[in-house]
Amino acid sequence: MKRYYQPEIECAPYEQIKAWQDERLVKQVKNVYENNTYYRKLMEEKGVTPDDIQSTEDLHKLPFLTKADLREAYPYGLMSRPLRDCVRIQSTSGTTGRRVVAFYTQHDLDLWEECCARAIVAAGGTKDDVCQVCYGYGLFTGGPGLNGGSHKVGCLTLPMSSGNTERQIQFMRDLGSTILCCTPSYAAYIGETLHEMGFTTDDIRLKAGIFGAEPWTEEMRRDIEKSLGIKAYDIYGLTEISGPGVSFECEEQTGMHINEDHFIAEIIDPETGEVLPEGSKGELVFTSITKEAFPLLRYRTRDICILKREKCSCGRTHIKMTKPMGRSDDMLIIRGVNVFPSQIEAVLLKQGYAPNYQILVDRVNNTDTLDINVELTSEQFTKYSEDDTTLKKNLTDALKTMLGIRPKIHLLPPKSITRSEGKAVRVIDKRKLID
Ligand code: ADP
Ligand code: ZN
Repeated sequence: MKRYYQPEIECAPYEQIKAWQDERLVKQVKNVYENNTYYRKLMEEKGVTPDDIQSTEDLHKLPFLTKADLREAYPYGLMSRPLRDCVRIQSTSGTTGRRVVAFYTQHDLDLWEECCARAIVAAGGTKDDVCQVCYGYGLFTGGPGLNGGSHKVGCLTLPMSSGNTERQIQFMRDLGSTILCCTPSYAAYIGETLHEMGFTTDDIRLKAGIFGAEPWTEEMRRDIEKSLGIKAYDIYGLTEISGPGVSFECEEQTGMHINEDHFIAEIIDPETGEVLPEGSKGELVFTSITKEAFPLLRYRTRDICILKREKCSCGRTHIKMTKPMGRSDDMLIIRGVNVFPSQIEAVLLKQGYAPNYQILVDRVNNTDTLDINVELTSEQFTKYSEDDTTLKKNLTDALKTMLGIRPKIHLLPPKSITRSEGKAVRVIDKRKLID
């Protein structure tokens, strides 16, 4: 049986979605122009007034907002409501620099939590489920977002936050958790710990996982699904636009439906800013059409992906985005070649390694160097030594084929690389420390 949290919205015909977007965009642009001096100035500089925006076809006329704008306007400059109407502040994780803050009215919290509720129901969640949330709670949006969504669905919610992995597993077993929400790297760690504690998937009742907040590969998905005996669903979001639940995966697992009644998505060429036709790969841009306190128009996410509007077997009609392959600023340029950490992860997992690795980039004598620390699994470690030349050569060759450059591989004993309980830090780029 197919289930939706808000079927009349999630399965609305495209014409209806477009009508909502047109009407809400016009209203939101007026609202922001009247209430937000920062964005009004950007519009004036571009020579655009609210009258120029009559439908989504006019969206491209509006100026972009970037993370630099958010930092410049920090903390209150991009609000469109007085502070006294707001009830919550959240902040980004600061993965790529200074944190930025976002504000929410009660209405904004409700719509954010509803988006998370849609994701939980799409993963099979009902009132009968026990939903264990081990995203971090606090300023980070992961914990509060999924917690709110879980309440809205009516699941029994276990607000574990991250960390203390053995206790996570004890509660998971004692209370029969059926849905797990956390970052994919933490899900992998929980799976690893479960087996180390001598348990198997028969000892837990988990059926689904809702994992996001960082890039992860299909290979990693299969690994986690096997180790926890679940179906693993992707969820995407960013604090600036609300938090997790901007888009979420359905059972088809072929991309994430964007909640288009709240957010208009565009793909642009990150170099020129030109809007690209559907199906092109580029930078994802969001316009928030229903938020009150902190509605951003044409916010550049720096996440690189593809949008596709096609019939989905789940019955949902909202457009889908592919898994972001990383942010434009995650991309490493090594000896002139573009390298995404996710490409390295895909090769490692295909070759039978666990997702425990670290990418080290440096510059020696004016030449970029790429070293990859790769942990051996316990099974590999009983069979091979850390300096097994064949293992190293096979891995180096496979990476050379994928990336176009030859990395230096260092095999390490199991447990050498610190596990992540939140967003994993995979890359250490020492060149940045020099510049
Ligand atoms: P920060 O930008 O400081 O990490 P956030 O915690 O708001 O702050 O994280 C949002 C970012 O996390 C997104 O822009 C995206 O790069 C990444 N992200 C979130 N969900 C996913 C996902 N499912 N897949 C890949 N990346 C994701
Ligand atoms: Zn679907």
